[in-house]
Amino acid sequence: MTFHIITIFPDSIKSYIETSILRKAQEQKKVKILFYTPRDFTKDKRRQIDDKPYGGGAGMVMKAEPILKAVDAILKKIKRGKSYKIVILSAKGRQFDQKLALNYSKKLDHMILIAGRYEGIDERVRKALKAEELSIGPYVLTDGELPAAVLISTITRLIPGVIKFESLAEESFFNYTKKKEEKFLEYPHYTRPEFFSFEGKKYRVPKVLLSGDHKKIAAWREEDAKRASSLRK
Ligand code: SAM
Repeated sequence: MTFHIITIFPDSIKSYIETSILRKAQEQKKVKILFYTPRDFTKDKRRQIDDKPYGGGAGMVMKAEPILKAVDAILKKIKRGKSYKIVILSAKGRQFDQKLALNYSKKLDHMILIAGRYEGIDERVRKALKAEELSIGPYVLTDGELPAAVLISTITRLIPGVIKFESLAEESFFNYTKKKEEKFLEYPHYTRPEFFSFEGKKYRVPKVLLSGDHKKIAAWREEDAKRASSLRK
């Protein structure tokens, strides 16, 4: 999958996507992440990418044409027959979730992610591109770069070979073994040491996890996953 990010501040997420699993996924050519800046698609002397809102109001709005030209340049690079999706990151958009991430990881060859800043993007970009607006949650961030990185992170780890299948098998939100949505969040994890004290309190690993009885462990984890899920409601 190739992610094409349209952003005026590519540096804001470059170090993030060049770290750990995302870096490895790029080295192994499982994903490609490319940046485009609307400023490169302006014609005026000042290379202006934003302007005041029509109708008045606070803040600036990102201009449509530099973004549309950037998308045009990307579409020209996408080979015929390859699948793609154009997404505008927006607090007003459809809620991005695990099911959607899995769907995209399976079906798409290219994703064009348009990151907004300031008050947002001229509405005509959405209309002209018939783009989908996606939100990463019911809150307003200062920028669309972080949401773009959230999508890339969530989708990339679902691409076969990026991480071990066993790591995905029993996760929160989706059960990859049963290939269906998971009602419960994942069970809690523990690692060494078996015991420690912190601020006068003792913390032990639940005994069952040390028993070596895999049936009992599975049953305990299921119960604990249900308990953890109900506590978070
Ligand atoms: N005026 C906008 C509103 O009230 O919905 C908020 C604009 S926000 C300050 C600037 C940019 O951040 C947006 O254009 C969008 O790209 C991104 N953004 C903010 N919150 C987001 C969210 N929850 N999900 C996805 N993108 C978001």
